Amino acid sequence: MRLADIDGRLVIKGPEGYIDAAEASGGRFGPDAQSALTEWEAFSSWAGEFLASPQAAKAPVVGTDTRTVWGPPVPRPAQIFAVGLNYRDHIAESKLDVPTEPAVFTKFRTSLTGNEAAVTLPDGLVDWEAELVAVIGRHCHHATRETAWSYVAGLTVGQDLSERRLQLTGPAPQFSLGKSHPGFAPIGPELVTTDEFADPDDLELGCRLEGGEVLQKSRTSAMVFDVPELVARLSAVCPLLPGDLIFTGTPAGVGGARTPQKFLAPGDVLVTWIEGIGTLRNPMLAP
Ligand code: ZN
Repeated sequence: MRLADIDGRLVIKGPEGYIDAAEASGGRFGPDAQSALTEWEAFSSWAGEFLASPQAAKAPVVGTDTRTVWGPPVPRPAQIFAVGLNYRDHIAESKLDVPTEPAVFTKFRTSLTGNEAAVTLPDGLVDWEAELVAVIGRHCHHATRETAWSYVAGLTVGQDLSERRLQLTGPAPQFSLGKSHPGFAPIGPELVTTDEFADPDDLELGCRLEGGEVLQKSRTSAMVFDVPELVARLSAVCPLLPGDLIFTGTPAGVGGARTPQKFLAPGDVLVTWIEGIGTLRNPMLAP
């Protein structure tokens, strides 16, 4: 199943296009997209039955065009976890050692945005980081590697936009703050449930500038700590809550590690993709 937030309303993808979940469920779910995650088991079971029924083909569809406002498919997660240094090629370009524990920080919630959302570049050096984002579907504390995927509702495409100057300032680097300007956590366009993937641990991901070069391209199977390992290690400390996001780290090719360094500029359009999920597009604006 694929779901999204279109013009502030929860939609599911049917055979003919996006279907408004509140209308299709008679008000049981939606219109707020967060409601799908707070009752994930009830919602996913209703949506599965609805999409398999003859009603799905007859339901009115929501059109999308250039005026469509795509919200983040999870608009208000209680917690956002993010992991640094999780691909060996990115660790090598950062000239650091492979960590023995995930390097965890947060992106504050006000940095979330959606597909096609413009990002106003703050003063500083703003870099790209294409990332797979896992969305938690049910309360999870002390998960094991073996049970970890059962707590994940689905996957989406994310960018961990990072202002490098602030990120690397101070005796303890400011990862959380330097990566949390408004618009620095675009996710979407859709949340795709795990059953849609032949192998959710091995997906091509990358990003490019529209009309320009490919900046990053790798596979999620190259992670040091894969999704099950991250769910297990994070939930060994923090209970994970329905709707929580885990930004799982970025592969090689970030601008700050290049010679010469390269950063996002006004007019750039950053296009981020993950195989089997979709493409997230975000234009960059002048301050
Ligand atoms: Zn990152």
